[in-house]
Amino acid sequence: MSVATNLQALKNNLPEPVTLVAVSKTKPVATLMEAYHAGQRIFGENKVQEMVAKYEQMPKDIQWHMIGHLQRNKVKYMASFVSLIHGVDSLRLLQEIEKQGAKHQRFIECLLQIRIAKEETKFGLTPAEAEQLLFSPEVGNMKHLRIVGLMGMATFTDDQDQLREEFDSLSDLFDKWKEAHNLLHLSMGMSADYALAIGCGSNMVRVGSAIFGARNYS
Ligand SMILES: *Cc1c(COP(=O)(O)O)cnc(C)c1O
Repeated sequence: MSVATNLQALKNNLPEPVTLVAVSKTKPVATLMEAYHAGQRIFGENKVQEMVAKYEQMPKDIQWHMIGHLQRNKVKYMASFVSLIHGVDSLRLLQEIEKQGAKHQRFIECLLQIRIAKEETKFGLTPAEAEQLLFSPEVGNMKHLRIVGLMGMATFTDDQDQLREEFDSLSDLFDKWKEAHNLLHLSMGMSADYALAIGCGSNMVRVGSAIFGARNYS
């Protein structure tokens, strides 16, 4: 199957309001360009250096999403062009994004990553921590970023009931805060579980292997 065929098949399955982030980590530019020529304009990467390298080589109408865990000292390399940062999970990271946004006179959109998986994971905020950040005056006063939604990663499991429970928990938080904070994006669902995630309210899916094939990590 070609990238273009996979992409078309996927799009046929996505309801209209769902945004597709094509997760292209580890794949070469030539492969991303196949998706570009098939109409895809939103790409997700999880490493800053790799995203910068691809940004430099590819057409400038692409929106680049950082979907991986982000270290503060890497924000500066992508602050001039990144379109959405999915994995924001601390005040210190928000402060750095604000600083870099100011330097580049940009307004950087961010999602707060919430820890929804029952499995042990280091990343993501508890609901209480997220609520504190969302409604903190310091964050509200940041002029070069805005929190526009929530992101979560479910447990790596086939158990549909557990996945549904985890997606529902994030969807409930989104519903609870979206009016008060004007949230737009609920980023949840990957190749194996995007349909379930959409059923639970996701409006932004991050899909890699279902478009580009399995990844080889070296
Ligand atoms: C790699 C990755 C994805 C995509 O995973 P697939 O199973 O290949 O669709 C989605 N979200 C994040 C945060 C990732 O790191």
